[in-house]
Amino acid sequence: MEEMKRNHEAIARCIREAQTIAVVSHVNPDGDTLGSATAMRLILESLGKEVTLFCDGKVPDQMSFLPGADLFRVPEGNEGPFDLLLAVDVSDGKRMGSAAALMERSAHTAQIDHHPTNPLFAEVNSVDGKAPANCILIRELMDVLGVPVTKDIAICLYTGISTDTGNFAFGSTNAEAFRIMSDLMEHDLPLARLNRILFRVKSREQMKLLGRALESLRFRGNGKIAVMTLTAKDFKDCGALSEHADTIVNYGLDTHRTDMALLAREAAEGQIKFSLRAREPFTVNDIAAQFGGGGHPQASGITMAGTMEQCVEKVLREMEKKVASD
Ligand code: 5GP
Ligand code: MN
Repeated sequence: MEEMKRNHEAIARCIREAQTIAVVSHVNPDGDTLGSATAMRLILESLGKEVTLFCDGKVPDQMSFLPGADLFRVPEGNEGPFDLLLAVDVSDGKRMGSAAALMERSAHTAQIDHHPTNPLFAEVNSVDGKAPANCILIRELMDVLGVPVTKDIAICLYTGISTDTGNFAFGSTNAEAFRIMSDLMEHDLPLARLNRILFRVKSREQMKLLGRALESLRFRGNGKIAVMTLTAKDFKDCGALSEHADTIVNYGLDTHRTDMALLAREAAEGQIKFSLRAREPFTVNDIAAQFGGGGHPQASGITMAGTMEQCVEKVLREMEKKVASD
């Protein structure tokens, strides 16, 4: 079986041999997948490639500052053909959503990712499940390609690295992340401006939704699990979209004495989307996998069909088993 490793040379070879390249971000795009894709566009264009950015879903308004954020296309499946499809920060082929169809319309497929659960779904895989952000792998690839950092590339890479490390606070944050940051600072990175956009400013809709989520906050597993729920009515009343709930789960884990947190939101018709978080040594990716989801050990997600109450109880039972055996 193919082993999981950083494989910059093989990715660089695919890139050199291609002219038309589709770069694909994952559904429910976050800072790391969007930062990776927008950085890759700048890198590939500097090498004279024709790049199309794809994402099955809307780029959150918060990320509109990324250079090229307005260039993402929602795939219809009939685009191309392309010489190369390059997936970035995509933990599983299915997470490309409608862009998965473009794999058949591309002569070659490759991916750069950092999820330990990645099944190595592309022809060429550069995957390091230990890297704290995918943008770290992109920065390293640039050296192999001989492409220098610019201010715009620094903005893209900082976005991915800072968001996936929880603003350099998660246990995954390592010296490599800071070494890369030091170099990005040398390239005129507007740190204070971006930090405010990425970690502090919230829309009114987000603030209202946070209020609803905090009202729903309750505890299970002898107080060790924080649970929050957001119904379709909550979203409607607050004029909010699903993306406005993206960081709310962290408030659960910030509550004194909690080791795990769950946020369940009513998504499209009959679908419940879960965000699961844990504090080390607890893990939630194994629980997510039991229900067809996935992610990182301390941050995972699930999308499940059913009613809110049924789905939440199923997931909570597994979480309670974990904290009880502590
Ligand atoms: P979030 O809770 O922020 O939406 O997602 C946390 C992590 O779980 C992310 O790394 C994301 O890739 C993964 N994730 C979220 N939702 C799903 C899902 O429905 N299926 C899978 N396989 N992974 C998910
Ligand atoms: Mn990531």
